[in-house]
Amino acid sequence: MKYRFAVFGDPVAHSKSPAIHLRFAEETGLDVCYEKVRVSEDDFARAVTDFFATGGHGLNITVPHKWSAFKMASQLSAEALVAGACNTLMPFDQDLYGHNTDGLGLLDDLDRLGWSPEGLRILILGAGGAIAGCLSPLLSRRPREIVIANRSKDKAVNLASRFGHPVSGIGLDRLDDLDLPFDLVINGISAGLSGSAEIELNEHILNTNGACYDLIYGAQETPFLRMCRPLTAHRSDGLGMLLSQAARAFELWTGVSPDPFSQLSDFGRASEN
Ligand code: NDP
Repeated sequence: MKYRFAVFGDPVAHSKSPAIHLRFAEETGLDVCYEKVRVSEDDFARAVTDFFATGGHGLNITVPHKWSAFKMASQLSAEALVAGACNTLMPFDQDLYGHNTDGLGLLDDLDRLGWSPEGLRILILGAGGAIAGCLSPLLSRRPREIVIANRSKDKAVNLASRFGHPVSGIGLDRLDDLDLPFDLVINGISAGLSGSAEIELNEHILNTNGACYDLIYGAQETPFLRMCRPLTAHRSDGLGMLLSQAARAFELWTGVSPDPFSQLSDFGRASEN
């Protein structure tokens, strides 16, 4: 059997998904073709319908279509429901099944790094779609507290209120009012990260063994991780999360689990300790 997968996004040229999934195929011995397709918002529903009508087995969904994918799916996983967004679609009977693997991928990577959230005080910068997808998986591990700080305060407060204790939301401009230190700071601010580079993090924001995790990844050290250099030796970008969320989609589509982290060195690491 030949599996047919694709990633839909706009832009999508930068996507590493085809390379990652073709490596999973090689590793697991499955026959896979994987396309990268730029799809405009207006064309999204038609493109998804056509893909599955013509025998497609699985879709990865990236910016800006995760919300549209959520609206299209008639069956939703618990993770997709809580996130209000889908990054993974597949056919299910005559319906469309939507899942969100972002938060599960983050948890897998935190486990790999030895930074499991149990009992931790966690500060999250940003309150966008990716963070919304990460909250429920993070909470399943019973952290002591999660504070979400976002440029648009209302978004942070609204997101936190969907979960209640121990999650709270504040404006990004109120970081100085927080009780310090935290055990883990997670960055989910996009903006090419010139945005987060402008944020001042208090030198006591982390405890002595604290860690910084950036959802962003790249061949170079990200601005957030560079900013965190004086704060801690424990820093990681989001490449492991990217690989792990992909592995979970591959497993959903094929029933076979690849090793997400065997590819870490292939894509180059920004910074990780
Ligand atoms: P969204 O567009 O949904 O959210 C963007 C967030 O960044 C919002 O909180 C927004 O604040 C904030 N922001 C944007 N610009 C600025 C700025 N100049 N100053 C302060 N805050 C700013 O994006 P996503 O949540 O989908 O993605 C966030 C990042 O995570 C992206 O870079 C993405 O590539 C990465 N990601 C990584 C994954 C991985 O596997 N490693 C998976 C998914 C995402 P406001 O609400 O005020 O606009």
